[in-house]
Amino acid sequence: MTSTAPREEQLWSRCAGCASLLYRKRLRRNLDVCPECGEHARLGAPERLRQLVDPGSLRLLPDRLPEADPIDFVDVLPYPHRLTGARASTGLAEGVVCATATIGGHPVALAVMDFRFLGGSLGCAVGELITRTAERALDDRTPLVLITASGGARMQEGALSLMQMATVSQAIAALREAGLLTVSVLTDPTYGGVAASFATNTDLVLAESGARMGFAGPRVIRQITGRALPEGFQTADFLLRHGQVDMVVQRRSLRGRLMALLAATRAGRPARSPVPRQEPASRRERLADDGAALADPAAEGDAGTPGAEDNPAVRDAWDTVRMARHPGRPTTLDYLDSVFDGFVELHGDRLGADCPAIVGGVARLAGRHVMVIGHQKGHTTAELVARNFGMASPAGHRKALRLMRLAARLGLPVVTLVDTPGADPGVSAEEQGQAAAIAENILTLTVLPTPVLAVITGEGGSGGALALAVADRVLMLENAVYSVISPEGCAAILWPDRSAAPQAARALRLTAPDLRRLGVVDEVVSEPSSAAHDDPAETAHRLRAALLANLLPLLDVPPAMLVRLRRQRFRRFGANRVGARAGLR
Ligand SMILES: [Zn+2]
Repeated sequence: MTSTAPREEQLWSRCAGCASLLYRKRLRRNLDVCPECGEHARLGAPERLRQLVDPGSLRLLPDRLPEADPIDFVDVLPYPHRLTGARASTGLAEGVVCATATIGGHPVALAVMDFRFLGGSLGCAVGELITRTAERALDDRTPLVLITASGGARMQEGALSLMQMATVSQAIAALREAGLLTVSVLTDPTYGGVAASFATNTDLVLAESGARMGFAGPRVIRQITGRALPEGFQTADFLLRHGQVDMVVQRRSLRGRLMALLAATRAGRPARSPVPRQEPASRRERLADDGAALADPAAEGDAGTPGAEDNPAVRDAWDTVRMARHPGRPTTLDYLDSVFDGFVELHGDRLGADCPAIVGGVARLAGRHVMVIGHQKGHTTAELVARNFGMASPAGHRKALRLMRLAARLGLPVVTLVDTPGADPGVSAEEQGQAAAIAENILTLTVLPTPVLAVITGEGGSGGALALAVADRVLMLENAVYSVISPEGCAAILWPDRSAAPQAARALRLTAPDLRRLGVVDEVVSEPSSAAHDDPAETAHRLRAALLANLLPLLDVPPAMLVRLRRQRFRRFGANRVGARAGLR
C-alpha cells in the first residue's frame, strides 16, 4: 500500500493557479504551463535549459567551487547544513547552472538560476559562476542570456553577497563595452539584490508571463506601508505597463523570441566589432600585478586604522547597530558643513522628481573641487519624515547617477556618504523601477572614469547603500554598520523571530572591524572615544583627514587604470573569497 502511494503522487500534480489535478506527463509536454488556466509553474534550471537550447548543443560550465562559508554564519542551523540540504534536494552544486549552447543556431552563454536552491539566493559562488559565464561570453564574443529566479542576496554570506551585485554588474558592463548583447529573462520570482543588479541592467529585459519582479518583496512593502497592494502589483504585466521590461513572453514563445532577438542583433553588428577586446587571456594575472602596484595609502599591515583596532572595549554588534542609528549622529549635510567647504547643492533627476533622501552637489575638500553625493536622514522626527528616513526613491538614485556622470565629464572626483536603512520600499518606488535604478548606479560606478571614494557614515543598508558605494576606496566610520539585510529582517526570516535581531546582528558581521577583515572596507575611521554624536567636530576632523589621505593618491591614477583596479577590487569578492575564510575568529 505505502509503496504505491508515492508513485501515484508523482503521476499527478495540482495546479497552483486553478487547483486542477493535472497528469504530470501532460503538464511537462505543455512546458509546465497549466493547460486549463495558463499558470506557469516554476521550472528548475536543468528543465529550463532543456526547453530553451538546441538539442545536443548544451555544454555545461564547471559548477564546483571550493566550499564557502565566508562569515561562519549560524542562525538556528549552521549555513553549511543548509547548503548540504539544498544540494541533496536539488541535485545541483549551487543555485545557478551555467552553460554554453546554441539557440536556433546562435551561440550563447547562459546562466540559469534555480529558485529551489536556497531561494535562488545570490552568494559568492553564484556570483562567481555568473561572472565566469559572462567572461566566457566575452572571450567567445557571444551574447549572454541570464534567466533569473531569486529572492535576493544570500544573507548567510553577509556583505560579501552584497558585493556580488557589483561583481556581476561589472562583468555585464564589460560586455556592454565590447558591443555584445546581454539579455535577462525574469522568471518568478526575481527580487532584491538580483533584481537590483544583473536582472535589470542588461540590454534587454524579458519577463516570462506571470513572473513577479521587484526590489522589495510584497510582504515587506505591506508591512511597511500598512496598505493593501494594487491588483497585479509587480507582475510581468505591471512591469510592462510601468516601462520596466521590453516584453512579456509566454513560456511557449520564449525560445522563439530569443532566437529572433539573437538573429536581429547579430545582423546589426559588424562581423568584427570595432571595440578592441578588453584584455587578453591572462588579464586576471595582469590585474593582480596592477593591484599590487597601487600603493594602499592606509596599509599599515592588515589591521586597519590602529585607533579603531586598539580599542580595548570590543562593542557588541547590536550596540553598534543602535549607535549607527542614533538620531544625534552627524548626517551628510552636517559633514558637508564641517568637512567640506562651499557646497552648492544640485537638484533633480531630470525626469520629474527631486528626492529629498539624497543630497548632492559640488564642494571643496581642502581646496580641491569634488562632487559629493550622500543619503540624508535628520535629527528630529520632522526632519526624518521630510527626508524619508534617508531611503532614496528611484528619482534619488537617478539624481545620484546624473551627478556621478556629470562629475566624470567634468573630471571631478566623487565622494559618497552612505547612511541609509535601505532603498525606499514603497509602492510607487516599485512602479518607478527601484530595482533598475539601483542596478544602473552600480553598473555605472564600476566603470566611472573618475576617482570614487565612499564612506559608510551610519547605516549601510543593502542595495540602497551599494548604489553609492561601488568605489575605489571604501571607508567606514568605526560605529557605522554595513549589511546585506537589516538584523531585524534577517531575524524575521531565519530564526524566524524579529526579537532575535541582536543575534542576527552578530551573525551578519556588519561592523567596521569585521568588514575591514573581510576586505569589503579598506579603512576604518575611528570615532572619538564615546561616539560620533558626542563630538561631531572631532569626528569631522578625523573624517576629513581620512578622505584626504585616501583621495590624493587616487588623483594621480589615470582613469583607465582606476576603472581597471576598481573592477579588480570587486572581482576578487567572487574569486578569492570562495573557500577562503577571511580570518575571522
Ligand atoms: Zn491551472
